[in-house]
Amino acid sequence: MSPFELLQPATLDEALKIMAAPDFAGRPVSGATAISLMRRAGILNVDSLLSLEGLRESLRDIRVADDGQARVDGLATLGEMERHPGLRASHPLLSQVFATLANPRVRNVAMIGGYLSHGDPHMDLPPVLSTLNANVVAQSLRGVREIAVDRLYQGYYETALAADELITGLAIPRQPACAYYKKITTRARHDWPTLGIAAAFDLDGGRIVRARLFIGAATDRPLRLQQAESVLDGQAWSAELGRRAAQAAVDEATLVPDSHGSTAYKQALLLAHLPEVFEQALRAPQPAARQA
Ligand SMILES: Cc1cc2nc3c(=O)[nH]c(=O)nc-3n(C[C@H](O)[C@H](O)[C@H](O)COP(=O)(O)OP(=O)(O)OC[C@H]3O[C@@H](n4cnc5c(N)ncnc54)[C@H](O)[C@@H]3O)c2cc1C
Repeated sequence: MSPFELLQPATLDEALKIMAAPDFAGRPVSGATAISLMRRAGILNVDSLLSLEGLRESLRDIRVADDGQARVDGLATLGEMERHPGLRASHPLLSQVFATLANPRVRNVAMIGGYLSHGDPHMDLPPVLSTLNANVVAQSLRGVREIAVDRLYQGYYETALAADELITGLAIPRQPACAYYKKITTRARHDWPTLGIAAAFDLDGGRIVRARLFIGAATDRPLRLQQAESVLDGQAWSAELGRRAAQAAVDEATLVPDSHGSTAYKQALLLAHLPEVFEQALRAPQPAARQA
């Protein structure tokens, strides 16, 4: 590993000033679980790292409002989110995802801002947060903006963040009544997914409404399956409807092979598992918040 300078700001303002300096050519570091591997593998060579550890005490809060919306500060760890009683009640889908995301050692140090900035298309939470319509909060000296998670990723390890921006928060709307994530792995259940399928919807008089469906580990970024959503919207669930939605999903999605599986294998997984995702969503734990 090449030598590097470690910068340790004590405040967010100080960190943003360093990021904005024209001669800054380094990277911010949160839990370092991804960046340290990339440096060790020689994929990422930078001469300075900006540690966010000194900001953590002031940027790790998790708040859930009465209407079920949640806000998570950017330096909260995945483990803190996993264990937060309010978030577990308001967003049981997230608890389900954390159970097989990496392992406790990684979850206890990886922070949500670092996680979402990483941009590996195999990650579990981006398709899940996309179905929930979540936004990241991006901050620089120029100001604060929110970016929808489903617009954050622009390609392999590429995000819409500007070079001087930090993710300082995550805003998650209330979880719909029905939501489920299926992580399909070829090795251990907490391994990287071969395919991830996330769905969320409400029910109105027994009919599916506002269906949102995303897949991960299938292309260079989370992919929304809008044709399949339109097959489902306004319909009562049935096995036949599930088969039609799965076929629509396979027809609309151009899947990319990787070391976990070929295109044909991923298509077969999508066809087989999409109906199950909707059936599980209908039975999944209900969010505690009132359905405003
Ligand atoms: C063994 C192992 C197994 C894993 N398995 C899974 C899995 O099954 N599913 C899954 O989804 N993920 C998995 N991961 C990925 C893991 O979740 C990420 O490594 C982790 O979340 C990255 O978070 P971090 O805080 O450590 O980020 P860091 O490593 O600190 O940073 C990652 C990237 O984000 C940038 N960055 C850091 N903080 C910020 C910020 N606040 N704003 C802007 N940019 C920032 C860094 O410069 C770097 O480019 C696994 C990782 C490991 C090591």
